[in-house]
Amino acid sequence: MRVAVIGGGIIGTAVARQVLRSQPSASVTLLEKESTLAAHQTGHNSGVVHAGLYYTPGSLKARLCRRGVGLLKAFCAAHGVAYTECGKVLVALDAAEASRLGGIHERALANGVPGVRMLSAGEVSEIEPHAQGVAGLHSPTTAIADFVGVTLALAADAAALGATLRLGVEVTGFVERGTTVIVQGSGGFAEAFDLVIVCAGLFADRVSRLAGDEADPMIVPFRGEYHLLRPERRYLVRGLIYPVPDPRYPFLGVHLTLRTDGEVMVGPNAVLALAREGYRWRRMSPGDLRQAVAWPGFRRFARQHWRTGVAEMAGSLSKRRFVAAARRYVPALTAADVVRGPSGIRAQALGRDGQLVDDFRITRRGHVVCVRNAPSPGATSSLAIAEHIVDLALTS
Ligand SMILES: Cc1cc2nc3c(=O)[nH]c(=O)nc-3n(C[C@H](O)[C@H](O)[C@H](O)COP(=O)(O)OP(=O)(O)OC[C@H]3O[C@@H](n4cnc5c(N)ncnc54)[C@H](O)[C@@H]3O)c2cc1C
Repeated sequence: MRVAVIGGGIIGTAVARQVLRSQPSASVTLLEKESTLAAHQTGHNSGVVHAGLYYTPGSLKARLCRRGVGLLKAFCAAHGVAYTECGKVLVALDAAEASRLGGIHERALANGVPGVRMLSAGEVSEIEPHAQGVAGLHSPTTAIADFVGVTLALAADAAALGATLRLGVEVTGFVERGTTVIVQGSGGFAEAFDLVIVCAGLFADRVSRLAGDEADPMIVPFRGEYHLLRPERRYLVRGLIYPVPDPRYPFLGVHLTLRTDGEVMVGPNAVLALAREGYRWRRMSPGDLRQAVAWPGFRRFARQHWRTGVAEMAGSLSKRRFVAAARRYVPALTAADVVRGPSGIRAQALGRDGQLVDDFRITRRGHVVCVRNAPSPGATSSLAIAEHIVDLALTS
C-alpha cells in the first residue's frame, strides 16, 4: 500500500511512523512544504504536556490526550527527548472562579487524571510561592516537553522504518483515478497513492477541500504571542501557573510556563492573525482575509465576540496591558521583567454556524483521511491521534 502523509508537524510525522509500525510493508511518503519539520504550530507553542483536565469526558480530546500523555512520556524516555513533570497550578481569583475550578476538578477525575487536588490559598503559595489567589487546583503530572525534538525523533523513526521524507514540496492538487489518488505538488511532484492522510495544520481546510472534502469547518488563524521573563526574574515561576479558563473559548488564557530550555514564557494571548502564517502584525494576506470574511461562520463569530477581540488586540499592542493579565496571578510581575518573545498561530476550526469546533475532528472520505481540527492539546495527543487515524484509515 502506498501512503502519502501531508504535513511535517508532530501529527504528520507521528502518523507516518504509525502507518509503518502497523503495516511494515507499506510505502510511506511524507510531504512538507517547508524546508524543515515542525516549522509551524509544532515549533511555536507552549510546550505543555496537558494532563487532560479540561476536556469533556468521552470526547476525542479527553481520550486521546490521556492516552497521548502515556505514549509521549514513554517515547521521550526512549529517545532521550526532554520531558519534565513540573506540575501545574490553576489559580482562582474569586469565588466564581473557585466554583468553576470545582467543575474542572470533577472533569479531571472523570478523565482519569492522576493526583489532581483542590488547593487552599495557602497551598497555592506553597507550590508556587509568587502566585496568589483564593483557591487553586494542582495537577502534579502536567509536564513540559520539547515538541520539536519529539517531531525530529518521530521522523527519524519513520525514516528508519522506510518512510521517504520530502521537504520543500507543497501539495497543490489531487486527481482521483479509480482506487488511487495522484498527489500533485510543487517542483513537478506527481505520484500515485492508495491512501492520503492530510495533517496540514493551518491549511487543513484548504488541502482537505482540494482532496474533495467539504468546506465546513474553516480554519481561522488565532495568533498567540508570548513574552519571555528576564533570566534574573525566572525565580517567580517554578512550573506552570494557569488561570481558570473562560468557558466561552477553547484557549486557556495567558499563563506562565517553564520551558525545557529553562526560559519562562508569559502568554499566549489570542488575536486574529491577518494571515495564516502571520506571526507578526505586519504580515498580512489579503487572500486569507477575504476568505475569512466571506465565511458566514466568521461573520457570526465576529458579531458575538468583537469585544473580546478588541481587548486581545489592545493587549497585543501594549506590553503593559499584556503583563497586567499575568500579574493578576503573580503580583510581583512588572512590564520591566519581560521581553518580547516568539509567537505561534493556532489552526482553530470554525463552523458555518459561527461556533469554534471544540473537539478534534478527523474525517474520512474514500481514500483520503483529513485532520480538520487539532488544536491544543494536539501536540500532547499526537501519538494517540496517530493511532486513531491509522485505525480509521486502515479499516475499510
Ligand atoms: C500558541 C500555541 C500554543 C499551543 N500550546 C500547546 C501546548 O502547550 N500543548 C499542546 O499539546 N498543544 C499546544 N498547541 C497545539 C499544538 O501545537 C498543535 O495541536 C500541534 O502542533 C498540531 O500539529 P500538526 O502537525 O497538526 O500541525 P503543524 O505543526 O502546524 O504542521 C502542519 C504542517 O503542514 C504543512 N503544510 C501545510 N500545507 C501544506 C501543503 N499544501 N503541502 C505540504 N505541507 C503542508 C505545514 O507547513 C506544517 O509544517 C499550541 C498551539 C499554538 C499555536
